Amino acid sequence: MRDTPLKAIRKHCLYCMNGSPLFIRECPDVNCPLYLLRYGRAVKGVQPLKQIRKFCLTCVAGPSEVKNCDPNFLDGERCPLYEYRFGKRPETFKKATGEGEKASRSSEKAPA
Ligand code: SF4
Ligand code: SF4
Repeated sequence: MRDTPLKAIRKHCLYCMNGSPLFIRECPDVNCPLYLLRYGRAVKGVQPLKQIRKFCLTCVAGPSEVKNCDPNFLDGERCPLYEYRFGKRPETFKKATGEGEKASRSSEKAPA
């Protein structure tokens, strides 16, 4: 089952801080878009999906790099934020863009 956006943020922060909840608590980067959500708990007025999008835009050079980002970290871990990198739930994104449909149509056309 897929992680919720908040759980994905928490996992990402754990990865960022080498698995240490203490380091997350003491995170000095107050400007990080994930900062307020780093405990994986909801904060009134802060939208997890929007913050993930902002974070992804700081992680790579721009929107097209976010779209095509390689979610596999050097140690083989997969970025927990990947499914939410467009700032939307994957199913909402597919519905809005038709990307899921296009992908399945092109795979239907692909030679066997
Ligand atoms: S808030 Fe940002 S800098 Fe701090 S632990 Fe999370 S990802 Fe790392
Ligand atoms: S999903 Fe991609 S762009 Fe976003 S934080 Fe992870 S590696 Fe960076």
